[in-house]
Amino acid sequence: MYLKTGVADKELVLNVLPSDERRGAGPYALIECFQEIPCNPCTEICPFDSILPMEDINDLPRIDYETCTGCGICAAICPGLAIFILDESYSDTVASVGIPYEFVPLPERDEVVEAMDRAGEVICEGKVLRVNKNVKRQNTPVVTIEVPKDKVNEVRFFQRKKDDKDVLPAADPQGEENLPDTTIICRCENITVGEVRDMIDQGYDNFDELKRLIRTGMGPCQGRTCRHLIMQEITRKTGKKYDDIELGAFRPPTKPIQLEQLMGGEKDV
Ligand code: SF4
Ligand code: SF4
Repeated sequence: MYLKTGVADKELVLNVLPSDERRGAGPYALIECFQEIPCNPCTEICPFDSILPMEDINDLPRIDYETCTGCGICAAICPGLAIFILDESYSDTVASVGIPYEFVPLPERDEVVEAMDRAGEVICEGKVLRVNKNVKRQNTPVVTIEVPKDKVNEVRFFQRKKDDKDVLPAADPQGEENLPDTTIICRCENITVGEVRDMIDQGYDNFDELKRLIRTGMGPCQGRTCRHLIMQEITRKTGKKYDDIELGAFRPPTKPIQLEQLMGGEKDV
């Protein structure tokens, strides 16, 4: 099921949750990384060696809850945004969830946001407790929100309320560039903001042109994550209105599959 929907079910999550005793003893990292992929930065970054070394780079990460302090460093480095920092220890009624958050603008402390479950459904409100921007490391910011305690193992994302004046603002062409050149803007194809800016400076100022020239939006997500950010860069650099720029062709997201799946029908392998 997980391979089809991308949404982890209760059983998968229960397998990685620490004991009730550990859950009540202070903040901890919860690693919801359920697919064997060649990735291991979490094992290298933990200052307490709490994420155990892998024998094979495709292994799933495992965590030693005796030593994990819930510092959050691993959540900021994980490229899959698969690590959350939970704290269920400080109240009988509320708990906090640290969520890697790649959107701009970041929320403010004390802002009330709409907390969402793994499938993207809004399930309750959350209050922003902290925003760790990781400016120096240029990793993913981690936003900690407080939610009702019985929702702490459901909430895995949030969105800012629609009436907040600065939700997804149109970029100010004269405004400062808000991302450093080295920021990866298209994660599927590993393209930086700087590369996109260079192409716009050369006159390529719509999404499809950039797609053909430097492959932004050509990866599995087909622009679902980068399109809006790239459009903002175009408006900022050219002064054009967002609505006047061609958005380019929309295609459904893709994912790699094995030949065996093609030959054998729909069953996941
Ligand atoms: S939260 Fe901190 S201590 Fe725990 S595994 Fe992540 S980096 Fe290590
Ligand atoms: S860094 Fe993230 S995606 Fe990579 S293995 Fe660790 S938890 Fe999984």
